[in-house]
Amino acid sequence: MNKTGPSASPLTLRSWLKRLADSDRLVVAKPGLALKHEVASLAKRMDANKAVLFPQPGGHAIPIVSGFMSRREWIAEAMGVDNSELLQAYRKAAENPLPWKEVPAGSAPCQTVVHRDVDMRTLLPIPVHSEHDSGPYITAGLIISRNPDTGEQNVSIIRIQVNSKDRMAVLMLPRHTWTFYQASAKKGVPLPVAIVIGVDPLTLLASQAIVPLNHDELEIAGALHGAPLPVTKCLTSELRVPADAEIVIEGRVLLDERELEGPFGEFPKYYSSAEQREVVQVDVVTHRENPIYHTIVPAEMEHLLLGAIPREATLLAHLQRSFPGVRDVHLSVGGTCRYHLFVKLRKTREGEPKNVIMGAFAGHYDVKHVVVVDEDVDVHDPSQVEWAIATRFQADRDLVVVSGAQGSILDPSTTVAFGGAEIPPEMQGISAKMGMDATKPVSYQGYVFTKVKVPGEDEDPAPLLQADASAALRGLFQE
Ligand code: MN
Repeated sequence: MNKTGPSASPLTLRSWLKRLADSDRLVVAKPGLALKHEVASLAKRMDANKAVLFPQPGGHAIPIVSGFMSRREWIAEAMGVDNSELLQAYRKAAENPLPWKEVPAGSAPCQTVVHRDVDMRTLLPIPVHSEHDSGPYITAGLIISRNPDTGEQNVSIIRIQVNSKDRMAVLMLPRHTWTFYQASAKKGVPLPVAIVIGVDPLTLLASQAIVPLNHDELEIAGALHGAPLPVTKCLTSELRVPADAEIVIEGRVLLDERELEGPFGEFPKYYSSAEQREVVQVDVVTHRENPIYHTIVPAEMEHLLLGAIPREATLLAHLQRSFPGVRDVHLSVGGTCRYHLFVKLRKTREGEPKNVIMGAFAGHYDVKHVVVVDEDVDVHDPSQVEWAIATRFQADRDLVVVSGAQGSILDPSTTVAFGGAEIPPEMQGISAKMGMDATKPVSYQGYVFTKVKVPGEDEDPAPLLQADASAALRGLFQE
């Protein structure tokens, strides 16, 4: 799928960073920026504009990189496709996983250096990101676990708070890692995990695929690369990790231990509160010679887009199964790339948009507000969507509201009913859903719903302009 193709050299983290540097898309910070706030604040100032490399962060020998996936067109470029083909290309990879290939033990770059007696507080340059965060957090760690019954792997990114020398608290949302942890707990054994930091852009993107349980996201990484992903066996478990990764933390999620985790600034640009969470016991850390550490600044574009693109691809596939008229979808930045879904529909019958709205709610529990628009509206342009709402939507007949559904537990407005009291897990994330049918009628009189257009307005203006305007302007502005 990648345009560079399997025959060309594979896309690695380092080749991607080099490409960004060679095209003025990567800047280098002064050496020694503070791990507390300073690294994240500079990365945030460059967000969606430049990736940043931080040499000697906090005096640490290992450099940090951030923001190398912070634009939609960079992600398309890494995938070797045009922006307009991004979702279909991602979907194709997710539907056609490619089994990984194993690199013999001892020859994987990610295991060149082995640390058996680790102190997580000093071994890696782990930043403190937002103002009220409880401490240093690993934010770009791919957590790999294994179905204890069948051996299938799972990959996701979860936030990890470093608590002490070799213990870290983790937030597992009720998805796949959590399911494997429950299955392991049933057998009375801690869940082995590998936390992988510093992977190539496509493996990073694959980790966020919305696929069913027991689908190894590393196989989607292979499909995105157009070649099987090289993996290697962990030193302390049967887990397979990307052989070319920069850093691998091997450990176990303990059964009966809980430690306080949070507050932590999350993707909706609010803090999750401190709660008792599961604990990873760290056993071994391996890394490349001179590794690079990756941090994702929470709520910035790298964080938002890594979630948005796989979700858009999945939601588009999901909607098109039932509604062939659906042309495109977009999770807007203002909706935190999770909560607001804009759907472009080729409407043929009245009422259809409301079916699409109900289908979208079922596509992912994070989807909170859905706007359905016509084909003449660009779903990637929020002002065009707003224009459709302003001119094609009537609240008394085009609005769909569903009360008391499941939403995102990170949406603070779902907690209001509890007035700050602790919310039992089964009551978390209860949310209303709203859909807006902002489409015009299928048939109408005259030009009443025809978008105003000047013939020629979409064409290149250059042929109609004088290259040298000086002759035409001479004398014109003199009093
Ligand atoms: Mn999964």
